[in-house]
Amino acid sequence: MRNRIILHYGELTLKGCNRHSFVKKLRTNVRNKIKSLDLTWDVVSIHDRMFIEIPTDFTGNIDEIAEKLAEIPGIAWLSKVYWFSNKDYDIFEYRPDLSKVEELIEQLANETYVKDNSFAIRVKRSDKRFYQTSKELEMQLATVILKNTEWKNVNLNHADQYFYVDISSRGMAVHTNRIKAIGGLPVASTGKIMCLLSGGFDSPIAAYLMAKRGCTVDFVHFTANNIQASKLETYKVARIAQRISEFCGKVRLYMVPYTHFDLALMEKNLDYDLILFRRFMARVAEKMANDVYAQCLVTGDNLGQVASQTMENIVSMTKSIDMPVLRPLLTYNKEEIVTMSRKLGLFDVCVEPYKDCCALISNTPKTKSEHEKLEYMEEKFLDDYDELINDTLAEKQVIAFNFGKRFDFV
Ligand code: ATP
Ligand code: MG
Repeated sequence: MRNRIILHYGELTLKGCNRHSFVKKLRTNVRNKIKSLDLTWDVVSIHDRMFIEIPTDFTGNIDEIAEKLAEIPGIAWLSKVYWFSNKDYDIFEYRPDLSKVEELIEQLANETYVKDNSFAIRVKRSDKRFYQTSKELEMQLATVILKNTEWKNVNLNHADQYFYVDISSRGMAVHTNRIKAIGGLPVASTGKIMCLLSGGFDSPIAAYLMAKRGCTVDFVHFTANNIQASKLETYKVARIAQRISEFCGKVRLYMVPYTHFDLALMEKNLDYDLILFRRFMARVAEKMANDVYAQCLVTGDNLGQVASQTMENIVSMTKSIDMPVLRPLLTYNKEEIVTMSRKLGLFDVCVEPYKDCCALISNTPKTKSEHEKLEYMEEKFLDDYDELINDTLAEKQVIAFNFGKRFDFV
C-alpha cells in the first residue's frame, strides 16, 4: 500500500481553453510550496486532479503537510489516499484477499472515532470487473468497523464520518473525509496588485482575498520613522506579510517612511491632513506599482468604518491617481473580517498594539472632502509633489518572503 495526497481544483475545470495554463500555474505553485517545506515530492496532474506520491520512507506527519497544501489558492479540497495498486493486489480476481483493506479501514475508523457520531462507507466502482457490487462491499467493510471498533451508528444519508473506497482499473483507493481547501484560482493567473498594508485587521484580509482570486501580491507600508534594516523582519507588518506569503508564495514588502510628507505639512494645521495623507500614500504606491508592473492598488477600506472611509473620502483618494484602486472589503462587517483573521491565523499578530497613521495624524479628521478643494491645497502647500514622492521613495526599504521564508529578490 502507498500513500498519496490528491488535490482537487473544482473551479479551474470551468476555464475552457485557458484551463491548461491555470493547471500549469497551480502545479508550479504546489511544487514550490512542497519545496518550501523541504520536501522533494513530485506532483503529477491527471484530468481534474493532482497526485502527490508520498515516498514510503517518509516518517513525518502527512496531515500537517495536507493542511499546508490546503492553503494554496486554486485547490478546492484534498484527500489523503491509501492506494492498493492492481500490480500488487489482483483485486479483479474472484474473491480477492482484502485483508489489508479491512485492516486499513479498521485503523482509520479507530483514528477518527468520536463518541455518538455516525459513519458510512461509500464504495464507487468505475471498473465493474470487481466481483462484488458496491453495496456488498460497503456492507462487508461496515461490518468490520462495527465488530472491531467502538463505532455504533451507521447513517447512510448524513454521516459525520465517511470512509470512501474507489475502485478503478488501476487499483483501489481508500480515503476518509475530504479536507476543505481555500478554493479560488492559482496565484499568478489573474494579475498583480500592490496592497497598501497597515498594521490593522483589514488590509491583510484584503490581500489574502486578492491572492485567493489568483493575484500576485506585493505590499507597501508607510512608517512614521526610518527603520533599521536589521530590524525589518521583527516589525508587525513584516510578520503579517510573512503569513500572507504562506498562501501566495513570493511577496515583497516595501517600507516607506513618510517623514517628508510630515515635514511638508508641519505647522500648517490643515483640517484635511488625513485625506491629504491618503492621497499621498496612493500616489507613492501608484508609482511603486508601475515600477513592479502591478496593475491595481488594493486597500482594506471598509465603507463607513472610520473617518477616512466615508464615501466622500474614498472618492477623493481614488481621484488622486490614475491607477484603479480595488477594495475587496468595502461591504464587509468588522466581525466578518475579524472572524476571517482568526481563521487564517492572522489574528494574533494583527491584534498586537501598533500606532497607525490615523492616530498619528489627526484627532478630528474631516469626514467629507472634495477632490478639487484638496487639489488646490496640494498646489498651495505641497507645491513640488514629484520631489516629495522621489524623496520619499529614495528611503524605501524592502523585505521579501517566499512561502513564509525570507527570500532575496533579484
Ligand atoms: P486596517 O484595519 O487595514 O488598518 P483601518 O480600519 O485602520 O484599516 P485606515 O487606517 O483608514 O483604516 O486605513 C484604510 C486603508 O488604508 C488600510 O486598509 C490600508 O489599505 C491603507 N493604509 C492605512 N494606513 C496605512 C499605512 N500606514 N501604510 C499603508 N497602507 C495604509
Ligand atoms: Mg489602520
